[in-house]
Amino acid sequence: MSEFSLFLAHLNDLNNCSICPRECFADRFSEKLGWCKAGAGFNISSICVHHGEEPAISGLKGICNVFFSHCNLSCIYCQNWQISSRDENIPTPAMDFDTVIRQITGLLDDGCHAVGFVSPSHHVPHVKAIIDALRSMNRNPVFVYNTNGYDRVETLRSLESYIDIYLPDFKYMDRQMAHNYSGASDYPQVALAALKEMYRQKGSVLLTDENGVAERGMVVRHLVLPGHIENSLEVLNTIAEEVSVSITISLMAQYWPTPNLLNHNKLGRTILPAEYELVVDEMNRLGFRNGWVQELESHDHYRPDFNRQHPFEK
Ligand code: SF4
Repeated sequence: MSEFSLFLAHLNDLNNCSICPRECFADRFSEKLGWCKAGAGFNISSICVHHGEEPAISGLKGICNVFFSHCNLSCIYCQNWQISSRDENIPTPAMDFDTVIRQITGLLDDGCHAVGFVSPSHHVPHVKAIIDALRSMNRNPVFVYNTNGYDRVETLRSLESYIDIYLPDFKYMDRQMAHNYSGASDYPQVALAALKEMYRQKGSVLLTDENGVAERGMVVRHLVLPGHIENSLEVLNTIAEEVSVSITISLMAQYWPTPNLLNHNKLGRTILPAEYELVVDEMNRLGFRNGWVQELESHDHYRPDFNRQHPFEK
């Protein structure tokens, strides 16, 4: 039996799964899976060093990112589409727990300061099991919850003692867009409630060390989509009114059309300089002062290929 098997008790929640806002109550140990199509195992597509997050998150030697398979959203423009699909025919790799821990500790030994859980909303019990196992070995990296923002408040509350940094997307305030592009018309209210819970836990201040590497707090990401500037403006206004303008924002320009969208009437192109400028101007007008904007060419740098052993290296 694995020396870490004690921590697998967290997975018991998956026999009647309500960990994400879909609340399917699926038994993920059975063959009949829930909306996300994720099983009960460690469905992890890649554990690798990533240098492409925001500078304070990547740190000096990169973050050890754990990329979970499948997703509780179905964004048609997903840049990690190779691993996030809900297609049941796509094989779901399940790593054994000892291998997961061994790979993570190997990257920590190589100098990573943090462990990032990417698309964790449907794998929260696994996140807890991994953190408990690492802490039992006196490993205390910074733990980052890198989420699409479609999280249940109750589940986030259960993470309060586990997570150091929340890194949520806030994608939409437009319900129709949320429905058409991600299969979740309730995304605006669900993500806003999630954001408020993360803010309750972490507040506005992003604590950093002497090198400017983040240790505690939250960063809200918003990806500007071509032809949808109104949505971006509403997202920023909502954060300003309902959360705080002191919060750290990462305003992303890296959108690029995935192969399935090359002929899409709106999403078939990258964003225009004028579109991004409008959103940046609004961010400044509202009084946001903390965070990052991106170069428009950044879409050239973020094109992972999860068929490679190192998805972010060419
Ligand atoms: S995590 Fe998956 S199975 Fe569980 S409630 Fe969400 S969509 Fe359903």
